Amino acid sequence: EASKSLNFIEHIVEEDLRNGFDPEALRFRFPPEPNGYLHIGHASSICLNFGLGLRYEAPVNLRFDDTNPAKEETEYVEAIKRDVAWLGFEWDQECYASDYFQQLYDWAEALIERGLAYVDSQTSEAMAEQKGTPTQAGTDSPYRDRSVAENLKLFREMKEGKHAEGSHVLRAKIDMASPNMLMRDPVMYRILHKAHHRTNTDWCIYPMYDWTHGESDYIEQVSHSLCTLEFKPHRPLYDWFLDQLVSKDKLRPKQREFARRNISHTVVSKRKLLQLVEQGHVKGWDDPRMPTISGLRRRGSTPAAIRNFAETIGIAKRDNVVDMNLLEFHMREDLNKVAPRVMAVLDPLKVVIENYPEEQEEWLEAENNPEDESAGSREIPFSKELWIEQSDFKEEANRKFFRLKLGGEVRLKNAYIIKAERVDKDAEGNITTVYCSYDPKSKSGSGTPESQRKVKGTLHWVSAKHAGEAEVRLYDRLFIDPTPDQHEDKDFLDFVNEDSLEIVKAYVEPGLLEAKAGDRFQFQRLGYFCVDPDSTPDQLVFNRTVTLRDTWAK
Ligand code: ATP
Ligand code: MG
Ligand code: MG
Repeated sequence: EASKSLNFIEHIVEEDLRNGFDPEALRFRFPPEPNGYLHIGHASSICLNFGLGLRYEAPVNLRFDDTNPAKEETEYVEAIKRDVAWLGFEWDQECYASDYFQQLYDWAEALIERGLAYVDSQTSEAMAEQKGTPTQAGTDSPYRDRSVAENLKLFREMKEGKHAEGSHVLRAKIDMASPNMLMRDPVMYRILHKAHHRTNTDWCIYPMYDWTHGESDYIEQVSHSLCTLEFKPHRPLYDWFLDQLVSKDKLRPKQREFARRNISHTVVSKRKLLQLVEQGHVKGWDDPRMPTISGLRRRGSTPAAIRNFAETIGIAKRDNVVDMNLLEFHMREDLNKVAPRVMAVLDPLKVVIENYPEEQEEWLEAENNPEDESAGSREIPFSKELWIEQSDFKEEANRKFFRLKLGGEVRLKNAYIIKAERVDKDAEGNITTVYCSYDPKSKSGSGTPESQRKVKGTLHWVSAKHAGEAEVRLYDRLFIDPTPDQHEDKDFLDFVNEDSLEIVKAYVEPGLLEAKAGDRFQFQRLGYFCVDPDSTPDQLVFNRTVTLRDTWAK
């Protein structure tokens, strides 16, 4: 960890420390708005903030930025907590901007008293017209010079619910000619007669993001408030509000910005993800096709794979698109270490071993994970009738086909060498059964010369009479375009892949019938798979997490 090169945010912290900043005063926060589930873009921010916490042994708060009752819900709060914890991070305090509503209100009154805020009673259209343009100064509101007494009276009435939505707002009195449009008397409060998921109907005025965020950082004494680049122009406003409030003996937070991460073939915006859910393109926020943390978890990703991905892409100064393949690379890399190997057949073809005794069965030893000796081994049943993959047999094939063909030999993994002798076909000419012979002396690990004989090609298989049945869900990209939300003339929903889910019936080795939701496996030669919570005692359901190799068309 210590040898890892520093990202530019860490360089900023290092410089502050060199300049005498007290390391004990370092404090960070991750500040999601609970208006949806966390996605893979958030993982970058989570890993950045909690990574700083680990590096500097500093506390990191989980702060819910819950100032918009129209869009926020307790369900989202719960999901966010679950996801951050699942990623492996521990927050110091669980905070809510809504806990600061009274403090923010008191400070707002203080600003009014000092002539730094006023109630504007115009329509939002009128206010927008007066804003001006970046090259042209705005026009003062006719209410800009309201008396302190009148402002206070109106603001209190707004709070008491005496005014309709849209009839008044509280604005900071800054500079209608500022070259930064955000400094042209920004709105601090608006009236919303809506219940809030935590404060219920206690409030009917709600503070705006800019007025809330820096002040929440100040209340929590967050030293470095890290946000994405779109907030860079907000920094002067963040600082202006703090200038009015910070007392000398207290830490003054500072905002710094880093680039938002976009991932190819998906969208990372809670608003857009909500549309996918509401319009039924996916089954929910945790659908395995979703780029949400909960979707990735359900699909079978490990937390380490997501952390390693975030670490690899690092923290950038400019917005960019990261290839989804890189995330999948990290899933494979971690699953390779931790996922037990098992055998499952997704597209079955019957094999009958003619010289194997009818009633015989035997239990063969199979290694659970060649990457992990401590994973041990298990026993799998072998018998006269087996399933192999359709694609592993051809009647005729050239020398490069290292699978089973008529007259050819292959090894069955952990079992015997077999030779294909003849086939049965149905009326349409499809092969229904491959009849084989086996070499009884060739059993894997038996130490006989026959067991050591080299044959090209090893196939996975399951014993037909012992096999369990399972439903397997195979996922494709959710979007057919690499950057679905970056087309000016088209909506991202136009690029939804209508064939992103294929469901097949599979045969699995019997030990898998004990598997529990969330268990992850490598189906040998096929990929990584994870037990879906839709599984019932009668029907196992697996999600394909990733194939073994990158098979996406470039
Ligand atoms: P969304 O558009 O998905 O709602 P947001 O930025 O509004 O994104 P927040 O809940 O405010 O979502 O995000 C919490 C933190 O995560 C913020 O600091 C935000 O900047 C950061 N974040 C969100 N999306 C990304 C992303 N794609 N890459 C990096 N950081 C992100
Ligand atoms: Mg936000
Ligand atoms: Mg948002």
